Amino acid sequence: MIYLDHAATTPMRPEVWEAMAPYAGDVFGNPSGIHAESRRAKNALEDARERAAGVLGCKPLEIVFTSGGTESDVLAIRGPAVASGGGVVTVATEHEAVLEPAAGLAGGGHEVTVLGVDEEGIVDPDEVAAAVTARTAVVSVMVANNETGVIQPVREVAAAARAANPAVVLHTDAVQAFIAGDVPVEQVDLLTLSAHKFGGPKGIGLLFVREGVSLDPVLPGGGQELGRRSGTQNVMGAVGMSVAMELAVADRPRFLAEVTEARARFEAALSGVATRTVRESLPQHSHLRLAGFDNETLLVRLDMRGVAASAGSACQSGATQTSHVLEAMGMDHKAARECVRFTFGWTTTATEAETAAGIVRDALGAG
Ligand code: PLP
Repeated sequence: MIYLDHAATTPMRPEVWEAMAPYAGDVFGNPSGIHAESRRAKNALEDARERAAGVLGCKPLEIVFTSGGTESDVLAIRGPAVASGGGVVTVATEHEAVLEPAAGLAGGGHEVTVLGVDEEGIVDPDEVAAAVTARTAVVSVMVANNETGVIQPVREVAAAARAANPAVVLHTDAVQAFIAGDVPVEQVDLLTLSAHKFGGPKGIGLLFVREGVSLDPVLPGGGQELGRRSGTQNVMGAVGMSVAMELAVADRPRFLAEVTEARARFEAALSGVATRTVRESLPQHSHLRLAGFDNETLLVRLDMRGVAASAGSACQSGATQTSHVLEAMGMDHKAARECVRFTFGWTTTATEAETAAGIVRDALGAG
């Protein structure tokens, strides 16, 4: 199997599992207790928090461990809006984990603005500034899109939004971007990461919460994570996530060199049958339009030939829906159905990518 769906999830690095294993066995305490067994778990959790903070260059108390990217996004959107009664400004191409809670808030009477994008999927920082009012609680713009890999001008958005309302809370979803480069922690107040996108385990994520930012907890209860996210912490997951973060940073130069080469060879081998949908994107994303071909048929043929990739459109209750990302970029249903997302990762080799391109050509009947 040639796995080219790393944006969906990545294989766990073996060192991550090694670091986690003790917490699936001997070290099982509840980190909130007072006895020695609890302290062992608490020490591991706080060590993981310090390591994650070390990677992001923030304070350990600014790390809130969650169940993943979805929960972090929901907390980032609902948290400030519910705490202040304010509104949300976001973008039509954001992940559903941002758009759905924003829609829920709109239904509850909060002012919610969902901005459009240009044909490359990029939001205009001036439009963000124009949408921000004194009643805006949170602005959320992702670092890089999960379908196309296109990179948003988050730093410019942050500056423009703050100029319009200095009190606004800025959130960015860096789930897809973290593996490829430094994320803009200094420019924002809230930042989402999910461990399974960079060699860590599934079911653990974090939200960076700048000190002083108040959030209404999405999960109220026992008051763990300084009252920002209740529930007994996933110690094993937090340990795995922190190790995966360190490994991702240490491996970045090699990763970037390999995926850059992989994508160049992959796309060169597909020239004539495929075109990029966006000019610039994350180096590990190759989002291609294969004019005249239906992505579902192609993905099934690729699966039969041992290549795993995915499409932007999700199949829900039998009916294929047009990707909201491609729709926002101005594509119609037919064009969106011609798009396939190939995403490379820490296990991908350039040779493997080139082999996969040959298999794609074969599956297309393009020789
Ligand atoms: N945000 C983005 C950009 C994503 O790509 C994903 C995962 O697909 C998520 C959020 C949700 O992350 P998780 O799967 O950890 O809930």
